Amino acid sequence: VSEPFTVLVDTINNLQRSISGARRLYEVMDMVEENITDGTSLPEAAPSIRYDNVSFDYGEKANTLRNISFEVPAGRSIAFVGPSGAGKSTIVKLLYRFYDPASGQISLNGLPLPSYQLHSLRQHMALVSQDIFLFDGNIFDNIAIGRPGASREEVERAAQLAQAHDFITALPQGYDSEIGERGIKLSHGQKQRLSIARAILRGASILVLDEPTSALDVETESSFQSDLGQWAANCTKIIIAHRLSTIREADYILFIDDGEVVEHGTMEQLIAIDGRFRRYWDRQNVSVAASA
Ligand code: ADP
Ligand code: MG
Repeated sequence: VSEPFTVLVDTINNLQRSISGARRLYEVMDMVEENITDGTSLPEAAPSIRYDNVSFDYGEKANTLRNISFEVPAGRSIAFVGPSGAGKSTIVKLLYRFYDPASGQISLNGLPLPSYQLHSLRQHMALVSQDIFLFDGNIFDNIAIGRPGASREEVERAAQLAQAHDFITALPQGYDSEIGERGIKLSHGQKQRLSIARAILRGASILVLDEPTSALDVETESSFQSDLGQWAANCTKIIIAHRLSTIREADYILFIDDGEVVEHGTMEQLIAIDGRFRRYWDRQNVSVAASA
């Protein structure tokens, strides 16, 4: 049995032990049925990502996504903004091939997604999302699962970039601290930093941040933002955010509502259009000012 498959099996075993992982397990079972080693492997370098008129339904709900089109050049970033339930996370699930589009095409480096090995594709993607999966074990292992066999130094380096090293070393047992049922309790922000460290260690070429900073305090968030530029410089990035501060750095923005791209452009362009994005933006600035 190849090592990646063992990792997948381990991951599924871990997921089964985790109630919070149940939803993700459901998605793993639901995923596209295909031999994971068929097709070409994705090159190491960050790829360009392109969606052409992609539509998708979950079945009972029609028109979950309608004619989604965009392109992210290699190594650049795009942000999806819009109300909850608009379809932002679903767009990313199609990139993982948890599901395939009903119509339209997704391509990486100009080649349709199904021409790549599913395994290679997922290997090159790192996801930092609001639901964080940690398994019973120590902190080191929970980060190292991003790249099995990683050295202590590599794990610590990733933790430093993720702003996790300091809180870890402040624990009596440091990286050997057990987490989970019988271990130490971590705050949501700390868990999130562990999952960011894991993603950094993975060395992925496609980075997906799905509302990643929702649990971080403002100070941690702003240092996370500035570090993102460094460690993710070579990744093609998709950033999904409620908080506009999170997407400030994005090269291009799509405003998604009800499964459709309703506005697109750079931040400056969208603010100038004075439409949906602008209203969203103004509302956040008002609430920021009110809470200051
Ligand atoms: P967003 O990330 O923008 O909040 P989602 O992509 O999660 O939106 O969801 C888009 C729509 O699809 C919502 O109406 C949501 O309820 C529905 N949806 C999401 N996941 C599933 C699923 N696994 N099965 C059925 N419907 C789903
Ligand atoms: Mg979502």
